[in-house]
Amino acid sequence: MALAVQYGHLRTLISEGYAARSRNGVHELLDFETARIAAEHLTDVHEALENGGGVSGPAARRLINAAGTEHRRFGGMITTTRQAHSLLADPALNVFHNSEAFLFCNYDRAKALCHPSRGPQTIPSLDRCRPNCANIARTDEHASQIEDTAAELRAQAGSPLLPAPLADRLRQKADHLAQFAAEHRTSRITVDEEHS
Ligand code: SF4
Repeated sequence: MALAVQYGHLRTLISEGYAARSRNGVHELLDFETARIAAEHLTDVHEALENGGGVSGPAARRLINAAGTEHRRFGGMITTTRQAHSLLADPALNVFHNSEAFLFCNYDRAKALCHPSRGPQTIPSLDRCRPNCANIARTDEHASQIEDTAAELRAQAGSPLLPAPLADRLRQKADHLAQFAAEHRTSRITVDEEHS
């Protein structure tokens, strides 16, 4: 399981466990790490966009705007808890990387499909991510990772040692993934297009 997903679980468990208490060291640490990771990811997106990279998905414009805002305000560097709180206080900058699903979650609780009960969570349930969520944005890097993963699955499916039903399942999964990548390639927008 990816670190990001584990981190999401950890954060949820700890947040629930300590919900009745005032802010403490654990919360401070989690807030700091959440903000630091978000800033790093948004700076990566900003740099990719500056180099002509594209973003797709229903939250593509939100991700582009978030990357620009983070760059102007923090430059990818969160070094104090005050900065961390400042970043987290801006809902537009609450961006989570879901490496398992190859996407960025531009978390808007009202749109989130991963916890439809609308419980007390203030972070997404990355391990329950839904492909049709309006908070999804993908970068060119995600599309490349998806294509690489699909190619690996097809290579595994081609093994003569694999039972036919299992090989079929791998090919289906590869086709499913390839569709995400193809959608990205045809619908991606760039910063230039945004400003033209
Ligand atoms: S379902 Fe939506 S809100 Fe939940 S993790 Fe996925 S993109 Fe984020």
